[in-house]
Amino acid sequence: MKRKQVILASLLVVVCVLLGVLIRPASHLWKTHRHDASTLARLPRGQADDISHLNKTPVRAEIAVAADTAAALRQLRELLRYADQQHLPIAIAGAKHSMGGHTLAPDGIRLNMLPFRHLHLDTTTQVLTVGSGALWADVIPYLNRYGRAVATMQSDNAFSVGGSLSVNCHGWQPNQPPIAGSVEAIRVLLADGRVLTCSRRQNQQLFSLVLGGYGLLGIILEAQLRTVPNEQYSYHRVYAPAATYLEQYAKHVDRNPRVGLAYGRLNVTPDNFLEGVMLNYFEREGPAPRGGSLQEPGLTDLKRAIFLGSKRDGYGKQLRWNMERTFTRTQVGNEFTRNQIMNESPALYLNRTAGQTDVLHEYFIPRRNFDAFRRALQRIVPRHQADLLNITLRNVYPDKDTFLPYAREEVFGFVMFFNQDITPQAEQDMQQLTQELIEAATRLDGVYYLPYRLHATDTQLENAYPMMPEFLRLKRQYDPRGLFQNTFYQQYQHLAPAANVAARN
Ligand SMILES: Cc1cc2nc3c(=O)[nH]c(=O)nc-3n(C[C@H](O)[C@H](O)[C@H](O)COP(=O)(O)OP(=O)(O)OC[C@H]3O[C@@H](n4cnc5c(N)ncnc54)[C@H](O)[C@@H]3O)c2cc1C
Repeated sequence: MKRKQVILASLLVVVCVLLGVLIRPASHLWKTHRHDASTLARLPRGQADDISHLNKTPVRAEIAVAADTAAALRQLRELLRYADQQHLPIAIAGAKHSMGGHTLAPDGIRLNMLPFRHLHLDTTTQVLTVGSGALWADVIPYLNRYGRAVATMQSDNAFSVGGSLSVNCHGWQPNQPPIAGSVEAIRVLLADGRVLTCSRRQNQQLFSLVLGGYGLLGIILEAQLRTVPNEQYSYHRVYAPAATYLEQYAKHVDRNPRVGLAYGRLNVTPDNFLEGVMLNYFEREGPAPRGGSLQEPGLTDLKRAIFLGSKRDGYGKQLRWNMERTFTRTQVGNEFTRNQIMNESPALYLNRTAGQTDVLHEYFIPRRNFDAFRRALQRIVPRHQADLLNITLRNVYPDKDTFLPYAREEVFGFVMFFNQDITPQAEQDMQQLTQELIEAATRLDGVYYLPYRLHATDTQLENAYPMMPEFLRLKRQYDPRGLFQNTFYQQYQHLAPAANVAARN
């Protein structure tokens, strides 16, 4: 009898402890999930915005391009003539994930390129010809049928090819230059209606200006992209003190020719802020079956709740870090194809709550100054009480192709994701933080990334991109009547050399 009571009491204690351990995280995640209905308001007619929800802009018209090449060309040439006659600027838009009004020109025309999304793989050269409106979410399933994969892209699939080329994106592909390095040629429609093929051998200057040129030189119609084999990858990860990240990276990625994808995640919990790091990498295990499944990532609601639950909440941040550490441990050795890994949608973590938004920053820091920048972040970010949700780390090799390169030697990108309110005060705070981070990056020979908020001062932009005035001069040479504009251009256009006055302001 006594023994039975002891067993029952012990069981009760175990159940209580388990409940104690589980109740708080479970109720935290459940509450987060319950509050995750979209409360975003529709924009009034005549207004447009980008993914930041911070750039509400009056536009005269939003025009979608035709899907058929000949029809699109006729339509776009007509549009160029009309815009010129009416003195209307044209801002080109893909998936609109840039955050500084790069796809918006006040009182102008927004050109939606997404319908222009044809795809053709040359199975001899393995070069893909793709309409600039295609999303990676279109490209990956297409290439998957042929056993091929995208060579360089962002870490998610929601972006358009035209937008990706125009920001010169990069992602989890280690020890590679940005996407420009995988481009064989592009076809560009200029302001005067001519279509030019640009490559490293033909119209090379325009090639270098359009890639990473933020839609200011002309409309990219289509691109020829090098592809790589779709392979089977096994997942690995190393947890380490953040100060040793580069040693870990050298050991597990640089000296390991089997690595196909890699990225790091810094610990952003208040108690161990940027002290720990997780290096995630994928090793090649051989060819993937052609046309194999591109299965959606599972447990979407749970993963989203874990991420959202870390907003403005120290406990939620710790819970997320612990759960991600535990979950990734169970994944070690599991195999995925390259296409499965690269086919993830950012819907998993994008904000749906009115009155707040998430903004990205990215700083490219030379390898030799990696740890000094990490320590600078440890000092600066907490001082601003900013809600930093995530820092992902990726390296990029030098970019020899574009006019405005951000990788001029090997750099590590610190991709930072902040939550902020949509209020003038929050904007001002974020601007101050951004300017301080840009200063810190510049002192360490680093550069900030251009597709995000336009918080940099003129001097900061010129310090980071000393070739910007010359870029603006050449923009006006190719587009003398200033047809292609956006808010980014309008903010910094006065940095063009003085003799080169804009035709239209
Ligand atoms: C959640 C999120 C994750 C991101 N992750 C990454 C990442 O991993 N790596 C990275 O490098 N960047 C990343 N970015 C940054 C960047 O904003 C995107 O890479 C970029 O926006 C990609 O494509 P898009 O179709 O959204 O471009 P848009 O925002 O639509 O356009 C970007 C620029 O390209 C121009 N453009 C678009 N189409 C054309 C065309 N056909 N011809 C000429 N110009 C054109 C536009 O005028 C604009 O200046 C991310 C952004 C977000 C919001």
